[in-house]
Amino acid sequence: MNFEPSEEQKLLIESARRFVREELYPHEEEVEKTGAVHRDLRQQIIDRALEVGLYAANMPQDLGGGGLDSLSMCMLDRELGRASYALQYTVGRPSNILQACVGEQRERYLFPCIRGEKTDCLAMTEPGAGSDVRSMSTRAERDGRDFIINGTKHFISHADIADFVILFAATGFEETPRGPRKRITAFLVDKGSRGFEVRDGYQSVSNRGYHNCILEFDNCRVSGLDVGFAAGEDLAGCTG
Ligand SMILES: Cc1cc2nc3c(=O)[nH]c(=O)nc-3n(C[C@H](O)[C@H](O)[C@H](O)COP(=O)(O)OP(=O)(O)OC[C@H]3O[C@@H](n4cnc5c(N)ncnc54)[C@H](O)[C@@H]3O)c2cc1C
Repeated sequence: MNFEPSEEQKLLIESARRFVREELYPHEEEVEKTGAVHRDLRQQIIDRALEVGLYAANMPQDLGGGGLDSLSMCMLDRELGRASYALQYTVGRPSNILQACVGEQRERYLFPCIRGEKTDCLAMTEPGAGSDVRSMSTRAERDGRDFIINGTKHFISHADIADFVILFAATGFEETPRGPRKRITAFLVDKGSRGFEVRDGYQSVSNRGYHNCILEFDNCRVSGLDVGFAAGEDLAGCTG
């Protein structure tokens, strides 16, 4: 079996290495000292990554992304990972689940993330439910066409800089081959929505400039979209 990277992959590795050397390494000391990636610097890195085609490299080309396959993405991640975690994260790789956006969600969430105009974060883990995702207690209950969300998430990376959260919450039960199980639904909730608070998370020993957060949902109302529920509620999206 030939494990040699293809010519295209070699070019990708080369350009990612150059990007890390020229656009990320020079700012590591500042991030170490300040514990943050300043807003202007963030924008500068996003702009440069868009210019050289490294931004949203995981997203399909027909959506405006780089269209890299999984192996090439690993190679890119490995190269970017040579830099500080906070800086390399700025070269956005939007959550793949955003491809499930439908209708107006695509213009409101998916495409802005691919264009570097918005940033997402993804919230699954809870103080009482880490590896065992189905035991989550955050719940979203139907109220007419809306959902009311209550619960707490923690360890949520980059929620401080994200524009919205992809939130996983229990919405009832479903039959599975192993019997009834909690049904988990993904919601799109904008930062600033009433009843949704983002608090500072835990200090990291390393990874300066990277922050994780605690998210509190206290009767947070999100409106269901007709289209989101047409295909069943397992991947339904809602907008806050
Ligand atoms: C830096 C950082 C960033 C994170 N970012 C995010 C994020 O953005 N969004 C998000 O949703 N979550 C995030 N997480 C949370 C992460 O996904 C959880 O930490 C992970 O799912 C494990 O959950 P836990 O920490 O509660 O550990 P636990 O589930 O309590 O597990 C503790 C230990 O027990 C072991 N264990 C658990 N269950 C079993 C079992 N059945 N059999 C054998 N061993 C088991 C585990 O392997 C682990 O070693 C982040 C975590 C960290 C540390």
